[in-house]
Amino acid sequence: MSKKKVVYLDSNSTTELSQEVSGTLMDIVIQSIYGNPSSAHIAGKKIRAVVEASRFSVADTLDCDPSEVIFTSGGTESNNLALRGVYHGGEIVTSAAEHSSVFNTVSSLNVDDGFRTIPLLPDGSLDLEWADKLINEDTTLVSVMLANNETGAIFPVKEIVRMAHERGALVHCDAVQAYGKMFFSVKDLGVDLLSISGHKTHALPGIGALYVRKGLKLHPMFTGGKQESTLRPGTENYVGIASLGVVAEEIGKDSYFPTSGLRDAFEKALLRKIPNIRINAYDVDRVYNTSNVIFEGIPASAMVKALEEQGVMVSSGSACSSGSDRPSRTLKAMGLSDEDCLSSVRFSFSQYSTISDVSEAINSCIECVHVLRESYP
Ligand code: PLP
Repeated sequence: MSKKKVVYLDSNSTTELSQEVSGTLMDIVIQSIYGNPSSAHIAGKKIRAVVEASRFSVADTLDCDPSEVIFTSGGTESNNLALRGVYHGGEIVTSAAEHSSVFNTVSSLNVDDGFRTIPLLPDGSLDLEWADKLINEDTTLVSVMLANNETGAIFPVKEIVRMAHERGALVHCDAVQAYGKMFFSVKDLGVDLLSISGHKTHALPGIGALYVRKGLKLHPMFTGGKQESTLRPGTENYVGIASLGVVAEEIGKDSYFPTSGLRDAFEKALLRKIPNIRINAYDVDRVYNTSNVIFEGIPASAMVKALEEQGVMVSSGSACSSGSDRPSRTLKAMGLSDEDCLSSVRFSFSQYSTISDVSEAINSCIECVHVLRESYP
């Protein structure tokens, strides 16, 4: 197979830095901007201003007060801080499709009681009837993601919040795969806690934020100084925070969110040109950027490798579970057979994907399927 230019379609794993972020980083390096935001001198004050401006921009995109935004090291830490920070016992309800950073945290917290998982329907949506049964008077905490990392399916968090609050439970939402991909407001959703991550949306890795509703008491995971309202002690990652602030400025613009045009064109062409493929969660509301395709009869690992040789970077599941040959939790929860799960490949576009990326990817898929279907008849 011939080598082609790299087409990166693995943006749910991580994204390239935006030009605006790269520009800001260059400024920081060239002007050698540094200082501890907690220092009283001018160098510290300058960096404090950067941190607070970023907090303001992030708050604006989430529709909350800046004091409700706590900077963390990313999605995993935000999820841990939220769940470990509020949990004091009682039943936890989560979805069967959560990222490991929620799923494994919840399982470690609810060891004795066991936790309840809201199942998915075969179309990839959340089973609200089950949610209504599982969330009960003994439930103290509910954690449901806004957009699924593997299929892109958008879950009805507002509905979940209504059920949980009626029964006295708090709600955390992992919005890592939704931030920068769809408009949402923490006020409108009604959540108590919500996590985002920088590197999933063109900012630096190692930076994230947690929305903590005003008045909600949270226990920090670390002890230390008074940074981030004592919820996240330690000198702030001001370079990362600046990058998230820059991205938030962009997200805050009316014209930011792309349409699902590229994804739809990609799926339409694949379905037309390649026999025996299916798109997971095809019929449900999804974020604009995610296509999860079953190439029947072809192991996803072989397809990912063959596409890589063609210069197309994709993934066979979430980055944390890639390399494992265990069927994905999300796809299993939708009722897919192990074989279909292990033949599912995720293509995830970004703000900067182009129609030429889509054409390259389609042609490569056609070529790879042709070759691989002969090896795996
Ligand atoms: N939550 C979801 C839904 C994710 O997809 C990811 C990363 O893949 C995370 C949380 C973890 O985010 P981070 O890599 O910033 O720790």
